[in-house]
Amino acid sequence: MAFCASEGCRRWRPEVLARRMSGIQIDGRWFCSQECVERMARQLLAGARPLRLGVPAVAPPRLGVLLLHERAITAGQLTRAIASQPGTGLRLGAQLCADGACDEVTVLRALAAQAGARFVASIAPSAVADAPGGLPREAVRALGVVPFTLPEVTGRIRVACAAPIPRAALAALRRLTGWTLAVYLVSDTTFAALRDAYGSATDRPPRVELVRTSTVADAATRIAAAAAGSRRMTMADAHWAPYTWVRVTAEGIVRDVLLENAEESCQAASTLH
Ligand SMILES: [Zn+2]
Repeated sequence: MAFCASEGCRRWRPEVLARRMSGIQIDGRWFCSQECVERMARQLLAGARPLRLGVPAVAPPRLGVLLLHERAITAGQLTRAIASQPGTGLRLGAQLCADGACDEVTVLRALAAQAGARFVASIAPSAVADAPGGLPREAVRALGVVPFTLPEVTGRIRVACAAPIPRAALAALRRLTGWTLAVYLVSDTTFAALRDAYGSATDRPPRVELVRTSTVADAATRIAAAAAGSRRMTMADAHWAPYTWVRVTAEGIVRDVLLENAEESCQAASTLH
């Protein structure tokens, strides 16, 4: 004997209905109707919180200090670069490269050391044209993370990102896919090329359908629509500013709903405090 898992409904499910498999099972919970799935999705989206991150307690050393320490640049070059930054709007590493004080790989190596990450000097954009990992292109853009190898049987996959490492987005990707991420830092230019090339050679529909929306109500409707017509589904969600990503898997089909800049979500969250 069971009741609808949607708060405010609690409809009883008689055994005869259970045998006929009416309603929908989501992660082992039973919902009597699409409306109840939608209500549950709205509550979930409005209460979305960023994942907990293992943020280092000690601030990492500054890039300029690291480069000086490695004798990659001189104190004079650093002073000049810092003085030029307000005018050019460039980040320090890019400014030093523009000044000819050092090269991109040197900056990348220092940024990787700063973040405690690995780095790759370059990756050919053609490596990601087939969308390794099968993520929707929109998700790759929103995450700021590009998978560049196929997942291994162990679930390990290599992903590229630019500095600073988008730790919240990586945590979201880990949670939604179950992958073990081997993170590699790449230069801003390499990252932009990879992001633009990801999935560019695939004419076939993506393995994952994705809809992007900016209101909680619309996102909840779409999640409920994904549930319609199936009897059993699984649902996973992850939040990183300004996105909430919900992955619905039903009858072997994966559907993603990407909610962006949902003000209702922020307001709902702030009223709880
Ligand atoms: Zn119900």
